[in-house]
Amino acid sequence: MSGKRRTALVTGGSRGIGKAICEKLAADGINVAIGYNRDTETAEKLVQELRSKGVEAAALQGSVENLYEVKRVFDQVKEIFGTLDILVNNAGITADKTLVKMERETWLRVIQINLFGTYHCCREALQAMLPQGYGRIINVSSIIGLTGNVGQSNYAASKAGVIGFTKSLALEVATKGVTANVVAPGFIETEMTKKIPAHIYQKIEESIPMKRFGQPEEVARLVAFLAAEESAYITGQVYGINGGLYMN
Ligand code: NAP
Repeated sequence: MSGKRRTALVTGGSRGIGKAICEKLAADGINVAIGYNRDTETAEKLVQELRSKGVEAAALQGSVENLYEVKRVFDQVKEIFGTLDILVNNAGITADKTLVKMERETWLRVIQINLFGTYHCCREALQAMLPQGYGRIINVSSIIGLTGNVGQSNYAASKAGVIGFTKSLALEVATKGVTANVVAPGFIETEMTKKIPAHIYQKIEESIPMKRFGQPEEVARLVAFLAAEESAYITGQVYGINGGLYMN
């Protein structure tokens, strides 16, 4: 691996935590494929920003819940960059309702994007990583996957699922040069948490031992650490980053 410029695909890389991850990996000299779903303009703007840092970058559209779109994105990565060394499964959504009010579609949409999306992308990534005997997979879960939360049974199930899934994957590829780990953020300042009503936001902030939400850049540093070549002996682990809100 040494000496060769590596390539990463970051799903949901256009904004929020994903954008910070793209910026950090580019700053570390890694070529970046930015996965996104709807907002082409924002993703293309980030491509220009990353290229100005001296790495190759491309914005690739596709919904992670759709296997055919995922396959197209991975084909494009191969075509443009020739290789895939790092996969960050960061794309994710919330659709909150208490269970009594949660219809099947709301349940399914979150599971399909957060859990099936991770499955689709990991499976495709292995096609590139196993033959080359090298890969770093980082799956973004959530503190909610560990604690549960009122109104988030779908989200909690998807994020807890990501943890069990990643541990199984880590075992399956442990002798193949591929590592798989989980990053489980607490409450981070992004568009996702902007949806939280002000009075609840304040209550959450008070409950965090550090008395503040985290920044996307703080999560990005942890992801970049796990993506490093030197992190070869770390696999199947779950890393919390939550200002002390949950300790395992
Ligand atoms: P965000 O600001 O809402 O950004 C979500 C990203 O995911 C966007 O780039 C979006 O692209 C993409 N995306 C959404 N649906 C997609 C789909 N079907 N296919 C492909 N891409 C899709 O979210 P965030 O707060 O940065 O969260 C990023 C990850 O961290 C998520 O997995 C989330 O569950 C997790 N997390 C967040 C927090 C937090 O406090 N923010 C805490 C714990 C865990 P488009 O804009 O193009 O649709």
